[in-house]
Amino acid sequence: AKESGRNKFRFYDSQLNEIMIRKVKIENELRKAIDRNELKLFYQPKINLYTREISGMEALLRWDHHELCAIPPLEFVPIAEETGQIVAIGEWVLREACKQSKAWHEEGFTNLALSVNVSVRQFQHSDFVQTVQDIIMETEIDPRLLELEITESIMQNVDESIDVLNRLRKLNIKTAIDDFGTGYSSLHILKNLPIDTIKIDKSFIHDIKAGTQQSLVKSIIDMGKNLKLTVVAEGVEHEHQAELLANYQCEFGQGYLFLKPVNAYDFERFLVRNDKD
Ligand code: C2E
Ligand code: CA
Ligand code: CA
Ligand code: CA
Repeated sequence: AKESGRNKFRFYDSQLNEIMIRKVKIENELRKAIDRNELKLFYQPKINLYTREISGMEALLRWDHHELCAIPPLEFVPIAEETGQIVAIGEWVLREACKQSKAWHEEGFTNLALSVNVSVRQFQHSDFVQTVQDIIMETEIDPRLLELEITESIMQNVDESIDVLNRLRKLNIKTAIDDFGTGYSSLHILKNLPIDTIKIDKSFIHDIKAGTQQSLVKSIIDMGKNLKLTVVAEGVEHEHQAELLANYQCEFGQGYLFLKPVNAYDFERFLVRNDKD
């Protein structure tokens, strides 16, 4: 038994080693990713659940590495966050998304809002608000059409975060709490946060058929409305979910039911197609 225990240990050890090697490799490759043009943005529409009109889009980062294949953001974003690389990457994302958004506005899709994900590390960086302001000036987008999505983990530094949120608000930019319900934000903290939107995490929408989950989703929506926040549901995959959410007065939804995230070219075709009918 002792012997096999030792083997087991070695097995885990080598597996751990492989994970470490991949992590270091990703870290090194990520350093060159921007220069090599390997980072791309995909877009997913945000739909008004009452009218079914496209109200905006969320930019989602993609990385096509020449040999590591497509590495999902859920794998490389946390690494980039750990190493601090997310600060430069996040700046690239914001600039790229704002440029694209401006181009669509100029093509006549004037009221399209843009949502961009911002990591905690980026949000807490001392230059963050200035960088956002610079990018808005540079790309000449209407700040009122920009929404930054942050997670509840910014709450670890409540006072500093409130300060940053207030400075963003002064720039007329909107802010959203992403993956709402999965973190630890209490009602008390939420009440005092100068934010505009909550995005209900897709895990809640997924099992919306179950009775208890329905009342949970309903109470999250009611709470958001009571706090005068815009409510968006993530991960809407089925028609019955979209209808139920609309009945519960959740105004916006995103999900595969409407469109999977696609590249800018395909997103534009989606915009044109929906403009015609
Ligand atoms: P998120 O911000 O919560 O984004 C929603 C995720 O759900 C996206 O995964 C999207 O493709 C996926 N999704 C959309 N509709 C559906 C649906 O109907 N069903 C299901 N099951 N999934 C759906 P993605 O693109 O793989 O991104 C994963 C996460 O990576 C994002 O979660 C976000 O936390 C992070 N991420 C992506 N882009 C960026 C970025 O530019 N900056 C930062 N900091 N994080 C990013
Ligand atoms: Ca998001
Ligand atoms: Ca989410
Ligand atoms: Ca997220």
